[in-house]
This record gives sequence, structure tokens and C-alpha cells, in this order.
Amino acid sequence: MNTPSDPSSKPPKAVIIGGSLGGLFAGTMLRTIGWDVDIYERSKHDLDSRGGGIVLQPDVVQVLRRIQVNINQLDLGVESHNRIVLNQDGTTRSNETAPQVQTSWSLIYSSLQSVFDDENYHRGKRFVGVNQDTGAKTVTAHFEDGTSDSGDLLIGADGGGSSVRSLLWSDSEPTYAGYLAWRGLVPEKEMSEVSRDVLHGHFGFANGDQSHMLGYLVPGDGNDTREGQRYYNWVWYRTASREQLTEIMTDRNGRERGYSMPEGLLAPRWQEHVYNEATEILPRPFTEIVHATSAPFAQAIRDLTVTKMVQGRVILLGDSAFIPRPHTAASTSKAAANAIALADELSGVNGIEIDEALRRWEKPQLELGQYLHTQGVRSGNYLMFHRVTPS
Ligand SMILES: Cc1cc2nc3c(=O)[nH]c(=O)nc-3n(C[C@H](O)[C@H](O)[C@H](O)COP(=O)(O)OP(=O)(O)OC[C@H]3O[C@@H](n4cnc5c(N)ncnc54)[C@H](O)[C@@H]3O)c2cc1C
Repeated sequence: MNTPSDPSSKPPKAVIIGGSLGGLFAGTMLRTIGWDVDIYERSKHDLDSRGGGIVLQPDVVQVLRRIQVNINQLDLGVESHNRIVLNQDGTTRSNETAPQVQTSWSLIYSSLQSVFDDENYHRGKRFVGVNQDTGAKTVTAHFEDGTSDSGDLLIGADGGGSSVRSLLWSDSEPTYAGYLAWRGLVPEKEMSEVSRDVLHGHFGFANGDQSHMLGYLVPGDGNDTREGQRYYNWVWYRTASREQLTEIMTDRNGRERGYSMPEGLLAPRWQEHVYNEATEILPRPFTEIVHATSAPFAQAIRDLTVTKMVQGRVILLGDSAFIPRPHTAASTSKAAANAIALADELSGVNGIEIDEALRRWEKPQLELGQYLHTQGVRSGNYLMFHRVTPS
């Protein structure tokens, strides 16, 4: 393990806002270089998405390896064998060998979260304010309950709706991309015969007019990767006007939820709408997958970019800085890459050297975020609107 340069000095400390994947990647990686870390998450409970799917990317595996979570590739997810593209009538447009591992949000979250105990992972703490002492090179986070915590670095890993960003980067806000993702999870054993015959074990796709569907198997409850215990995870991109989006994101109890609708809360009218549209638009194997889903959920697709990720001793990391569209399958791996690079730059560094290390860290992270943003917009606009974005 690397330690800061002067072994007799107190280790530097990071205060991290947001205890989801971005905050946990940063927290676990900084611990590997000897930093003290406190993570503050507004939710009172463990976060949970019952295993929504994520394509497993090398940066995520690298964090798990570096923090010495006991992994072997097979336990980390479910391998899909081929990429199959279906026509609307259910016939196969293409079928190519392309092995790939898909994992779940909960598997990564629980692996990272297990590294922290309650002493350093604080639940039910909503960040509301920040002030920096530029002379002493310290930064203090303030929480809704009146408490505060100070450190050498404050990391805003508080997602697309980041409070850290709105306080210090007030000119950068996410914008709606004009479409949303309907999503769902079906227990593997509940896949219909037709769906199973065509889709099981593969990465499946179906493209249409303002419609892009995909699906694959992911680990099941308790991160179970055994045959029969997994979920089929599907994501169906559909265009929706701003007005429609507001209606879709108003839950079954009449509460407006902004840009994502959790499982179990979608209003019955919209649940019917998804089932009906699936019948009209999708090839039969996917129609039957959607119909087998008891609680579809939804997420609006948004774009976010920033031109700076560092302001003094405050940085943005993960979705709080850039939200690449999900076609890049890179949101989670970008957060991991941000965290790996941060630990690499800060390794062995203390005092005022931290400022220089942050400057070195920022430039490639901005380039990565901008690159993924451009790729995501290009893919999304082509898939959804047949619009070709000039290079
Ligand atoms: C419950 C949940 C389920 C998800 N499921 C999937 C999935 O299935 N597939 C996928 O690709 N991606 C999923 N994501 C998104 C994915 O985790 C992110 O795109 C990516 O990992 C980058 O994450 P992030 O940590 O930067 O942002 P986020 O995951 O958005 O996390 C931000 C965190 O900050 C916390 N927070 C926000 N404001 C404050 C505040 N003021 N004070 C304290 N805490 C605050 C939030 O509660 C949240 O936990 C999910 C995110 C969440 C929160």
C-alpha cells in the first residue's frame, strides 16, 4: 500500500458526498493509498435496484481487484454468448458470436459497500452546503441535520442532480434528450418458451422507429449467478415529449419523481401503456418479455457536461460531472476510471501538492467525459431519430 510522503503526519482526508457507485469507487480507491475517508449518503437505507443490469467493463474489475475484493470473473456476472438482432416480425436480422459479461448494479454496490462500516459510511446525511478555507487548504461539508465534516478534499459523487455541482457549478445542469428507457427484470424461470428459445443466454436487440430494445441475463437476488436463479434484464428506449415525461414520472400515488421511476411505483395507466406498445411494436420474444414483467420502471435519458471538474479542494466525479447516454454502457466504468486516476495522482502526495495532483487528474477526466458524451449523443440520436451527428 502506498502512503502519503511524510509517515509521521496525519493521513489526508476525503469527505465524499454520495454513497452510490461513484462515491464508493472513490472511497475504496483512496483508502488503498492511505487516505482517511468518510462517505455521506442522503438515503437512510441501503441503496437497492434489485439487480438492474450493467455491462461489466474493465475499469470496474480493476477497482475490485485493487481493493482486493475476492473475485473471479464468473462470480462477477453472467456471460452472454452471441449478439442477436431481431426484425419486427421476430425473424433474425443478424446473429454473431460476441461473448460479454453482464453484471448488476447491486452486485457492484454490495461488493464495494462491504468494505466500509457504519463509522465511515454515514446514512441519512443530506449535504446542503460547503465552504473552503483557501489558506488552510481545508474544505467543510455541511449537512441538513446541522452537522459538518472537514477534510483536505471534498468529492461530489452525488449523481446527476448533484447539490455540490449546483452550489459551485451553477451553470451546468442536465438536459432531457427527448427519450426515456423503460426497464424491467423478469425471473429467468418466468421467461416464456418463445423468449427463452430466441433470447436466453444472448445479448438481444430490436431496432424500430423511435424504438430501441435490448436485453440480457444478469445475476439474480443475492447476486446469484446460477442457472435458473438469474434475471432477464431489458431496456426499451422510446421517445416521449416533455409533457409525456412529466406524466410518466408522476407515480401511482401522484408524487412527481423527476427523472426516474422506481420499480413498483409506475402508475397503472403507464404500465398498461408499456404492455400495449410492446404488443404493437416489438418482435414476439421481446413482447413476451415485457408482458412477463410485473413491475416495469423508467429512467429519462439526460445529457450533462462540465468544463471543469476541480474548484479548489472540491471535485466532481461520476454522474455529477458527465452523464453519458447509456448506449455507451460507460457511466459506471467512467466513475471507476475517475476514481482509479484520482488515487493514482494522489498516491504519496500531501499538503499543497494535492492541488497540483488535482490539476493533473482533471484534464484526462474532462477528455474522457467529453468523449463519452459525444459518442453517446451520436449513438442515441442515430438509434432514436435516425439523425447523423457530424464528427
Ligand atoms: C439506486 C440506484 C440504482 C441504480 N441502478 C443502475 C442500474 O441498474 N444500471 C446502471 O447502469 N446504472 C444504475 N444506476 C446509476 C449508476 O450507478 C450511475 O450511473 C453510475 O454508477 C455513476 O454513479 P454515481 O455514483 O456518480 O451517481 P448515482 O448513482 O446517481 O449516485 C449518487 C448518490 O448520491 C446521493 N446523493 C444525492 N444528493 C445527495 C446529497 N445532497 N447529500 C448526500 N447524498 C446525496 C444519492 O442518494 C445517490 O446515492 C443506479 C443508481 C442508483 C442510485
